[in-house]
Amino acid sequence: MKFEPASNIQDLLQFGEHGDVNPSITDSATYTFMQAKTMSDTFEGNAEGCFLYSRHWNPSNKYLADALAAMEGTEAAWVTASGMAAITTAILQICNSGDHIVSSMTTYGGTFAFLKNYLKKFNIDATFVDITNLKAVEGAIKPNTKIIYTETMTNPMLQISDIPELVKIANKHNIKLVVDNTFTPMIVAPANMGAHVVVYSMTKFINGKNDCIAGAICGTQEFINSLCDVNAGTAMLLGPVLDPMRSSSILKNMHTLHIRMKQHSKNAQYLADKFKEIGLKVSYPGLKEHKGHETLTKIMNPEFGFGGILSIDLVTSERASQFMEMMELEGVGYLAVSLGYFKTLFSNSGKSTSSEVPEEIQHEMGMSDGLVRYSVGLDNDIERSYQKMLKCLKKLNII
Ligand SMILES: *Cc1c(COP(=O)(O)O)cnc(C)c1O
Repeated sequence: MKFEPASNIQDLLQFGEHGDVNPSITDSATYTFMQAKTMSDTFEGNAEGCFLYSRHWNPSNKYLADALAAMEGTEAAWVTASGMAAITTAILQICNSGDHIVSSMTTYGGTFAFLKNYLKKFNIDATFVDITNLKAVEGAIKPNTKIIYTETMTNPMLQISDIPELVKIANKHNIKLVVDNTFTPMIVAPANMGAHVVVYSMTKFINGKNDCIAGAICGTQEFINSLCDVNAGTAMLLGPVLDPMRSSSILKNMHTLHIRMKQHSKNAQYLADKFKEIGLKVSYPGLKEHKGHETLTKIMNPEFGFGGILSIDLVTSERASQFMEMMELEGVGYLAVSLGYFKTLFSNSGKSTSSEVPEEIQHEMGMSDGLVRYSVGLDNDIERSYQKMLKCLKKLNII
């Protein structure tokens, strides 16, 4: 098994047309041709290096896609206007009406709603399983199953998917393993372990600035080409393309991702250890007692730590709300959804990012009403931040 995050993004020579160290931004919707024949060849997909129209491909998007492919160790990538666009485009490309998907029960709320509610329109059915129960995963596969869908680290329960084992099951049944790696860029490289398609919300860690919504699909050249096919490509025909101005700014942010991931993980591990010490019910894959600790240790690149997300259980949503409001006033960070930002963000999952998941399923997956999810920031002095949290916990008589 290869542990490399495929971080050879540093080997890429991407510079602008005037020698600009940052690649030029191609601010154009359409492209001129000197010969009509080249245009028709491009339509047929036979003119390497030519651009036609920016919904199909744009040079700025190509720079970012190439960097993502290098990071993931895939042949190619395509960048989308949101993480949801990446997820839905990849799924709709693989599945036809009448097909079936086996999905992790805990996924991002939007993904869950898409699989459970929206795909009904196309007569595509999904079965939700505990993704750490490999027998249940294989048992749910039917003759019309096309995809096993999971998140490397699931939101918000932080379960860890055993990617190599899921790859084995998918390959045995000749179906595709699609992995959302949004929580663990650099830490885990699912495609290096055989995952067929890797999707990202770049809104989170990859961009890391909370200034835009974006996503990506990484896979084989054949798969990416199929997405952009002018006659049958889901990306080409539904058109969820990323704006090239954004691609350009995300690419610059991506070059600091490795440093940021290390700091997010370091700070999260510090807080998890402290929370445990004071007797809070804390969930963090970097803690030995976490159910996914062993699996993550097996598949991760240890250089980048166990990630920037952790959660604590304050039992009731009222208590969680009081605590979060107080932390915000103390300057710990912001009461906000989303993650991977340089400031610490916190939210009550059941009432926010997982509110699409019905309450009984929330409870079935072990999600408490008082779950506070942290996306730990890049604080230089995390101890200072911890002291503020401690003050709030004491004021509310939680400890
Ligand atoms: C945020 C998120 C998404 C959705 O991404 P958008 O960029 O908001 O469309 C998908 N999966 C995970 C794990 C996420 O955290």
